Amino acid sequence: MNTPDTLELRKEAAVLHKEEPVKKFVFSFKEGDGKNKQLLGGKGANLCEMTQIGLNVPPGFVISTEACLTYLANPDHLLPAGVLTQVNEQMLDVEEATGKVFGDAENPLLVSVRSGSALSMPGMMDTILNLGLNNKTLRGLINQTGNERFCYDAYRRFIQLFGKVALGVPDEKFDKIFEDVKRKAGVKLDIGLSTENLQEISERFLQVVREHTGRPFPEDVYEQLEIAIKAVFNSWMGKRAIDYRREFNITPQMANGTAVNIVAMVFGNMGNDSATGVAFTRDPGTGENIFFGEYLVNAQGEDVVAGIRTPKAVLQLKEEMPDLYRQLEELRDKLESHYREIQDFEFTIEKGVLYCLQTRNGKMNATAMVRTSVEMAKEKLISKTEALLRLKPETLEQLLHPRLDSLHKTTPLAQGLPASPGAASGQCVFDADRAELLGRADHKVILIREETKPEDIHGFFASQGILTSRGGKTSHAAVVARGMGKPCVAGAEGIRVDVKLRQAKIGERTLHEGDFITIDGGSGFVYQGVIPTVEPTFSDELKTLLQWADEVAQLKVMANADTPEAAQKALNYGAMGIGLCRTERMFNAPDRLPIVVEMILANTEEERLVALNQLLPIQKQDFKEILTTMAPRPVTVRWLDPPIHEFLPTEDELREELAHLRHLKDTASGVTNLFNSFRLLHAYDEDTKAALPFNEKGVELIDQAIVKKEQMLKKVHDLYEVNPMLGHRGVRLGLTYPEIYKMQVQAVLEAAAECQQAGIDVRPEIMVPQVCNAEELVQVKAYVQEIKENIEREKEIKLVFKFGTMIEVVRACVTADELAKEVEFFSFGTNDLTQATFSFSREDAENKFLPLYAEKNILHNNPFEILDVNGVGKLMKVAVEWGRKSNPELKVGICGEHGGQPDSIRFCHQLGLTYVSCSGPRVPVARLAAAHAKLGEAKNSSL
Ligand code: ADP
Ligand code: MG
Ligand code: MG
Repeated sequence: MNTPDTLELRKEAAVLHKEEPVKKFVFSFKEGDGKNKQLLGGKGANLCEMTQIGLNVPPGFVISTEACLTYLANPDHLLPAGVLTQVNEQMLDVEEATGKVFGDAENPLLVSVRSGSALSMPGMMDTILNLGLNNKTLRGLINQTGNERFCYDAYRRFIQLFGKVALGVPDEKFDKIFEDVKRKAGVKLDIGLSTENLQEISERFLQVVREHTGRPFPEDVYEQLEIAIKAVFNSWMGKRAIDYRREFNITPQMANGTAVNIVAMVFGNMGNDSATGVAFTRDPGTGENIFFGEYLVNAQGEDVVAGIRTPKAVLQLKEEMPDLYRQLEELRDKLESHYREIQDFEFTIEKGVLYCLQTRNGKMNATAMVRTSVEMAKEKLISKTEALLRLKPETLEQLLHPRLDSLHKTTPLAQGLPASPGAASGQCVFDADRAELLGRADHKVILIREETKPEDIHGFFASQGILTSRGGKTSHAAVVARGMGKPCVAGAEGIRVDVKLRQAKIGERTLHEGDFITIDGGSGFVYQGVIPTVEPTFSDELKTLLQWADEVAQLKVMANADTPEAAQKALNYGAMGIGLCRTERMFNAPDRLPIVVEMILANTEEERLVALNQLLPIQKQDFKEILTTMAPRPVTVRWLDPPIHEFLPTEDELREELAHLRHLKDTASGVTNLFNSFRLLHAYDEDTKAALPFNEKGVELIDQAIVKKEQMLKKVHDLYEVNPMLGHRGVRLGLTYPEIYKMQVQAVLEAAAECQQAGIDVRPEIMVPQVCNAEELVQVKAYVQEIKENIEREKEIKLVFKFGTMIEVVRACVTADELAKEVEFFSFGTNDLTQATFSFSREDAENKFLPLYAEKNILHNNPFEILDVNGVGKLMKVAVEWGRKSNPELKVGICGEHGGQPDSIRFCHQLGLTYVSCSGPRVPVARLAAAHAKLGEAKNSSL
């Protein structure tokens, strides 16, 4: 609504706008700031930088992301003032540099119009090649090059790309014509098409555009340019781009708008002395320092990526064009030493001249990242610090991905190129929409395509792995899968995909949608069925890197492990000790549970002691093994925590079992009576009579079982709690049934004593759960002390151990000064502490309202996954400060699940904790995160 006031305001704004000097939106490659990716996009900034360090980049310029955002905000779809004038000025420069003229009939200049935002989003936005062709310039180009075939090839590409990207003509319309002409001409590959074929294709393409848009294809080259620039800008708000940004959490701070790069065309399709390719300065699959890439002779850029033909390995260029290969190697070296990072670059050779068309930091899987980090640091290309910071801690998780069990004897169905390592099994699907549908329904699927396109991206997210029948290691499928850390086999040429029939043929065999297959992205093999996988092993490079991390880090990284086997595994992951050993897990083994049940059912202390004395040697043996495995590292043992009724069956289960037993008793009594009747007839069988439970003895046993179950039922009743989470558990159990904790203390300290006597340097640390009050600790400590003294006297040794408490109750945080006087260490149990701080029970929260809270932006993160720094974190801070004030020697750690999460680890570092403890497989991630926390100190001194 335009009230007089707003009208005034708008007039004023218009005047202001007029008076403002026109902004600089366009930068030539010679002047653009190579560091300003926000403004110029990654591609544009690097084109500038490469030009400025003297690499052979075709002349061109960048239109800034600022222009894009201004344009997108304009309701009239007008380019911001000044853009077109500045573009025209730059075009003059490009004309001068190339000696060609845009739109000229004699010597036409052609350009590409390319997108590129601050973050590389492979294949997310479209590029238009050969712009500037029309009827007139086409003739000129033919006269000039004398290569009619090449010209029509360029023309049909331009019409298709421009038609699709700028005018919205569906790709299939072009593809159909293309395939039709190919079939009629009886050729399989694009290069088999004759000049006449390409001419026919071009003409039919123009016709398609006319039909679809109701207007002839634009002949004015400057009109083409303007439409193309707008189309690239618009692609920023296209569905594909938006989906991609959402999936990878790309915020406007990271990338806002796309730049447009206008680049003079160079042609890889001018004959057999021309080529185009994509290369990595090192192998992005393994990280090995070898030149890695692919090229196609007589082709244009997008052919390699789109997987139209299967390209050749770059090493082959050494034979085909030795001099250019040497130049290419030189380019590789220059790029790497300048950027000090693995580069993924595009090149084109036009009639024997090499051009570089793009470079960016290479996306690699974790294996390659680790190896290149270590090797580049050793080569002194980067520092150790840079080597560590290069890797996001989470990426290490990929290394913990399973591989195929090498013992499997299955013969492969097909083989393609090993395009992204890792093994995956799943059901076949042949298009991205089906993959998404089945993936959402929790099916494991493998997406099988002839080749993938950016439109398939949602299918990638839903799949375990990708299999294509065309394309190389730098094809779209390979690049995207590597970026996502998903296994990919590309170019498995034996597979013929039929999307309509939802099947694929491999030789005689047919794979239908839903059939299981396994792909191995490390070898390129494809197998029928599900093949078992094995745990990965650590490479030497990973060991080195983590060792560097440990040298830097301040935090120690411990593991949560409850059994000797888990302890060994944790040690293999590089755990520096055990931060949480949950003793209840030791109670649950099938041979122990009956004893635990006896202990719980006991009505008197004596009865309970009988059971506990049976458990003592078993637990002691466990502790001995764990302590020995970890020696001389600390092992933190937590006393029994859950409410004891968790070891008993539920009331419903018991009622059902009782009903069953009573029924059994009736039957058994009946049969017994029957046998007794047989005896009267002297017709019974000695053997049968002996078989339980069909005799008096059997009935007696059933009776005993019934009595026991009834006892249990009564106990379950007695132990019933309205809210067990806040009930009779942890130290409260330890104080009401001290015998239980005493047995555990006895087991650990005896185990430690025996290890010590055997000369093993063990470091037990015992900790009490659920403490809310210093007096609880005082009372527990009294009997720990007594047991300790007894053992020391008996064995004539001095025991070495620590006594500590969990901090997982809000009151414990705020009375930390009092608790700290009684203990040598604190360990934050942030799972319970989070529940207590929010008054959320985790299961209910995660199942019922947390998703909604995230959606409504009430709680951004799930606090059970990412430590709630503002709330739980403040309590932790208070506890650390107050605790250390009354006990400066206090050791403080965290053993909740957050202990393995990089953001939370950074927070723990800032709090000055001594250690974090997490699950075994997270240990490598946590070690690197701990180093990052230390290295990022300067940046994050916000606490
Ligand atoms: P993408 O981001 O999808 O890789 P690009 O803008 O890099 O898109 O372009 C697509 C393909 O076209 C690439 O192979 C690139 O090398 C090629 N290309 C782009 N501009 C030119 C040009 N001026 N001359 C020759 N090839 C080009
Ligand atoms: Mg590119
Ligand atoms: Mg707890």
